[in-house]
Amino acid sequence: MPLTKQPHDQYVTIMGKRWHLRYCQVIEPDCDRPDLPRKQIRIPMRLQRTPKKLMDYLIHEALHAADWNQAEYWTHHTAQDITNLLWAQGFRLSKE
Ligand SMILES: [Zn+2]
Repeated sequence: MPLTKQPHDQYVTIMGKRWHLRYCQVIEPDCDRPDLPRKQIRIPMRLQRTPKKLMDYLIHEALHAADWNQAEYWTHHTAQDITNLLWAQGFRLSKE
């Protein structure tokens, strides 16, 4: 059992559908559409080193997964607002 919990690949269920969240060598984060089989959310590995930016992108891609037809403007600003709220409340990566 590792002592430090780092951001890691996992399966995630959003609105009853399952994505494989993967950290990989992509330039920008992205999310496969909810009707695809074996869908993925891809997060650039470099974001593992910038926790607040990582939180923002994880929320952003989760919002896309939850509501695929939502406008990019809404998704972008809602993710930023939720990230700022959680960050101000003290949420951080931890060694749990
Ligand atoms: Zn987006």
